[in-house]
Amino acid sequence: MEEEDDYVEYVPVAKRRALEAQNILQRKGKASAATDDDLEKQRVAETKPSLLVKASQLKREQPEISVTEQIVQQEKEMIENLSDRKTLMSVRELAKGITYTEPLPTGWKPPLHVRRMSKKECDLIRKQWHIIVDGGDIPPPIKNFKDMRFPEPVLKKLKAKGIVQPTPIQVQGLPVILSGRDMIGIAFTGSGKTLVFVLPMIMMAMQEEIMMPIVPGEGPFGLIICPSRELARQTYEVIEQFLIPLKEAGYPELRPLLCIGGVDMRSQLDIVKKGVHIVVATPGRLKDMLAKKKMNLDNCRYLTLDEADRLVDLGFEDDIREVFDHFKAQRQTLLFSATMPTKIQNFARSALVKPIIVNVGRAGAANLDVIQEVEYVKQEAKIVYLLECLQKTPPPVLIFCENKADVDDIHEYLLLKGVEAVAIHGGKDQEEREYAIAAFKAGKKDVLVATDVASKGLDFPDIQHVINYDMPAEIENYVHRIGRTGRCGKTGIATTFINKNQSETTLLDLKHLLQEAKQRIPPVLAELNDPMEDNEEITDISGVKGCAYCGGLGHRIRDCPKLEHQKSMAIANNRKDYFGSGGYRGEI
Ligand code: AMP
Repeated sequence: MEEEDDYVEYVPVAKRRALEAQNILQRKGKASAATDDDLEKQRVAETKPSLLVKASQLKREQPEISVTEQIVQQEKEMIENLSDRKTLMSVRELAKGITYTEPLPTGWKPPLHVRRMSKKECDLIRKQWHIIVDGGDIPPPIKNFKDMRFPEPVLKKLKAKGIVQPTPIQVQGLPVILSGRDMIGIAFTGSGKTLVFVLPMIMMAMQEEIMMPIVPGEGPFGLIICPSRELARQTYEVIEQFLIPLKEAGYPELRPLLCIGGVDMRSQLDIVKKGVHIVVATPGRLKDMLAKKKMNLDNCRYLTLDEADRLVDLGFEDDIREVFDHFKAQRQTLLFSATMPTKIQNFARSALVKPIIVNVGRAGAANLDVIQEVEYVKQEAKIVYLLECLQKTPPPVLIFCENKADVDDIHEYLLLKGVEAVAIHGGKDQEEREYAIAAFKAGKKDVLVATDVASKGLDFPDIQHVINYDMPAEIENYVHRIGRTGRCGKTGIATTFINKNQSETTLLDLKHLLQEAKQRIPPVLAELNDPMEDNEEITDISGVKGCAYCGGLGHRIRDCPKLEHQKSMAIANNRKDYFGSGGYRGEI
């Protein structure tokens, strides 16, 4: 018991220290003040929640947004930010606040039986021809050239070229343009889209010339802007083919001009001096001619941007905007492209008046007439395997690679092996490029090795086989490349070499494209870990699956390799300006 009485309860060190401290404070007479302070702090803490608590409270109060909605919202903002800077209007129109609200009338009307077609009948034709349209007051589709009221020499020429039945883009695109409406045409390469903008332009120029002939130094009535010299030349040649029979049949002479770099400007100026009706141009030389006042667009009322997505990708937007500055009045504006991601549609919307979108085949989808084969080939085995691959089909064959050095290496290798090959890339001079294209087109050479310069818009008839020596980083380029074969209903083969050098995003895009075109998926692609499988159903603001920027189906816009590339290019360009060099950007 005694022992128990002496028992002193153990007090932990911390508690003892606290008591000691309190004693000291008490002695100094501050103990009470200190506790008051503590109490006050405690009270405030109880009534005023911390920022952390507040944040979680706010989160709880916010309406529930699903992950899908969040992604769509984010992507919408990204796209808006991208297109804000890029409105396609002239400075004059912007400054004066000029906007056009009504399309330009042309006086063209389809025959009565076409005009009398009901909406249901029109929709049925569109459905049969797989044409998707969007816009108000869409002119009816027309199933033959005769009902489009082209003059006899044009119809004869079409027949002579073996063109008897219009293709889907022509069935709907021609009536739209002939009616004077602005249009966004989305059609895969080889669908016959060149005629869709060339024929109405010839008609319009003819009409203007008959009403008020062009005098020396005046013109043009119509302008076509192309992203590459080769494409411009090809379009120019198509125009020439139709102008000659028209002149022979007694119609007034229309003078076309090919306005591209790499050609002596004096010969171009001679044509301008006589008065020019139709100009096919690349942006650089056109801008130059306009800035030097060698030519004007005072009378121009018809503008086509061919391969518009590529014009924007190549950084020609500012040049095009400068060209827009030279227009003195409203024009009919047409935008054509094989792929048309949302960003281009937004870009276009500012320049077009009540546009009609004519889409034949999903934007970005590969041509369904092409058998697409994808093979895993090790880097060092590629060049040897190429020879084997060339045996798959008879010539002509196109081989694409990303960089110029590879083009030169392959070209040399093929020549050594006795293959009749020619090559083009941006590093070769204009003469060499033109010779190569002409020789290949004429069938004198069996193989053309090229960088993407040649992949866009060029029309090589009857290409049997396209070989992608490497897979382009951007899926759009793949679509353009393989679009060189399988044209106008014929079947072609595209073989693509892939290996570890390609990024996963690129391969995923390819996988989805193959899936969409119902092609065989090689095991390497099938095995890929695919994040898009989880959010397959997410569509962006315009209902497009996959990336809203480049149209690739294997990724979303935030992972877009093309956007990434563009951003780094923009940064590099800014740097150039910073150092005062301005940077010379030649047309490709
Ligand atoms: P494009 O898509 O304009 O580059 O045209 C591709 C090729 O198709 C050109 O060689 C045209 O001559 C040809 N073509 C255009 N329209 C038709 C048609 N309605 N029928 C058959 N071939 C056509």
